[in-house]
Amino acid sequence: MSTNVILARMGEVTLKGLNRGTFEARLKNNLKYRLRNFGKLKIYQSQSRIWIEPKDGDANPYFENEVAAKEILDAVVQVFGIVSASLARKFEYTSMDEIRTNSVEYMKEYLKLFPEHETFKVEAKRGVKSFPLTSPQISEDIGGLLLENFDSLRVNVKKPDFVFMVEVRDFCYVYAGKVMGHRGLPVGTAGKGMLLLSGGIDSPVAGYMMASRGMELDAVYFHSFPYTSDRAKDKVVDLAKIVSKFSGKMTLHVVNFTDIQLDMYKNSRQDMLTVTMRRVMLQIAERLAKENGCGCLITGESLGQVASQTLEAINFTNEVVDMPIFRPLIGIDKEATCDISRRIGAFETSILPYEDCCTVFVAKHPKTHPSREDIIEAEANLDIQKMVEDGVNGTEQIKI
Ligand code: ATP
Ligand code: MG
Repeated sequence: MSTNVILARMGEVTLKGLNRGTFEARLKNNLKYRLRNFGKLKIYQSQSRIWIEPKDGDANPYFENEVAAKEILDAVVQVFGIVSASLARKFEYTSMDEIRTNSVEYMKEYLKLFPEHETFKVEAKRGVKSFPLTSPQISEDIGGLLLENFDSLRVNVKKPDFVFMVEVRDFCYVYAGKVMGHRGLPVGTAGKGMLLLSGGIDSPVAGYMMASRGMELDAVYFHSFPYTSDRAKDKVVDLAKIVSKFSGKMTLHVVNFTDIQLDMYKNSRQDMLTVTMRRVMLQIAERLAKENGCGCLITGESLGQVASQTLEAINFTNEVVDMPIFRPLIGIDKEATCDISRRIGAFETSILPYEDCCTVFVAKHPKTHPSREDIIEAEANLDIQKMVEDGVNGTEQIKI
């Protein structure tokens, strides 16, 4: 009898001192939630590793073979706190016979998943001293066996494509290769933040980055129908789903921003529209944050990228709210942000060409270095208090 299981390795979590238990418990819960659609699972920990396997006696199609289990593996490595994971095969043994058979069977499946892997070495760990072969003897035996059975394989001890591991313990485990995880800390260990999520490239990445430090997320999107289409809104919902693969459950708050923007467009200085609009957005976001248990705001701003992201403009948007605004991309250039966006699977959605509200009501010559006088003049004919109130009240909530 053998079963496919997944072996996941924990990272930074294991460096925690007294809190380590809390972090580990959270990580296991997050794994349970992320894997909720993969049948009944047993998730348990031993030292700095977490094992995931089908509940005893359950026929679980996701674990039927290594190829099917790859889907679970890919979900596991998206959970923050996991450094890497491998597909393993677990089986009972009495002698080298079972270890040999299972090694060959495992390798067949493994090479279907990773056909480009050609060089390897074997490492064995004998945890049961009564087993007749020593660790080096097991390695040699299995190494020779794999070479005999797979023409494409060659040994390379210095820099192999994969290491084939054999662990002889209460059960025997064989596994090869590692899929790298997203590292970070388990979501839920660092409070909750309100992400200002637009349809662009930057804000989903900003949310991902804060979640990687353990922060739970809600998101707010300012929608200006019909100036921004329903397709633009669907796109933001899709982006929220992508971010939530990493950050877990979230609520997306969609603010109906049309009347507020029209009001600003008519009654405010054209060159100051961007800054004024952002000041109102931030105030609405802060109110929603407080109502939903969030202790900070998160944006995808990057210094100097556009008119609203100069130091002066950032200062004038900061001053309207009390809570911290985290801008994880502030010192990151666009190419690097795009790389992360691709890695998390958001890029293709982010570049779909639906207008976001900022591009519709955009001034031709925005003021890049506004002064106090500019702000006062721009807001003189606006009832900001009412705008914020209306914005908060006109919010639709979507569970992601
Ligand atoms: P992004 O790629 O995230 O859209 P951007 O480079 O287009 O960012 P701006 O449009 O200036 O930059 O927006 C800066 C930040 O303000 C965004 O990263 C996002 O956090 C927030 N933001 C902008 N527009 C909206 C919106 N319609 N709804 C919610 N947040 C928004
Ligand atoms: Mg944008």
